[in-house]
Amino acid sequence: MNYMELEYPSCPLCHSENRRYAYSRFETYKVVGCCSCGFYYLYPRLTETAMFKLYADDSYFEGDHAGYTSYSGQEVALRTTFQRLMINLKKNKLTGGSLLEIGCGYGYLLDEARKFFTVRVGTDFSERATKLAASKADFIYCGGIEQVPIQEKFDLIIATHVIEHVYQPQAFVKEILKHLKPGGSVVIATPDMGSFWRYLMAHKWPSFKLPEHVLYFDKRSLSVLMKQAGLANVKPLPYPHAFPLPLVTAKLGVKLPSRLSKFNLWMPATTLALYGKFYA
Ligand SMILES: [Zn+2]
Repeated sequence: MNYMELEYPSCPLCHSENRRYAYSRFETYKVVGCCSCGFYYLYPRLTETAMFKLYADDSYFEGDHAGYTSYSGQEVALRTTFQRLMINLKKNKLTGGSLLEIGCGYGYLLDEARKFFTVRVGTDFSERATKLAASKADFIYCGGIEQVPIQEKFDLIIATHVIEHVYQPQAFVKEILKHLKPGGSVVIATPDMGSFWRYLMAHKWPSFKLPEHVLYFDKRSLSVLMKQAGLANVKPLPYPHAFPLPLVTAKLGVKLPSRLSKFNLWMPATTLALYGKFYA
């Protein structure tokens, strides 16, 4: 670790400098709670420039040191998760028009969205990911939402497992709103800091993924963020998440008989998802 690359941020939601250590047994980075608004965030954290260098490294998706432990190895579980998500979006009348996904990875969600949306567009910072996602969507932009031309507006914008990586969350949600049609909706999904798993597993909670996860939302803080940005009718969206059984047993430290290694497990209360509407 090059200590020149660390920064010591104020609360990313309310900008208070008052904080207390919540999870301090990690080596370099600590998870702190804001004494003013209760939000949890990483302190210190890598500078955004240093973090972008890490994401630009292709081994982020396939390496085992940081990022995802073989993202493509989770393809079946992710596709199963996104099939269920599409059904839940449809039940809440969020399907049917144009879809933009921020941080689309290899494009599994966009591919599963084929039957549910007329236009499907994605963005991702990883060049390798955008190449793999290209065949699964109508268009993929390499980079963040700022790469999407301002005249392109969508009925639904989804950011799943993205906001926990974002350095300036308020600016990020406002940027999303610029790309919504009037009456359009936004879905934001992120690991649930309010989940019993966090209390149960403490420092071993898998969503304490350092140094990439810089923000830790629960239902209350995510709802505040979305409403402050200008979204209305902010409500929870059911978001059950399937994981490969070998991944789950490894995290729990349980030995798995090899004949069970192909199974997926629906894990309750791992992902928090909220959606809100935008009336321009
Ligand atoms: Zn705060």
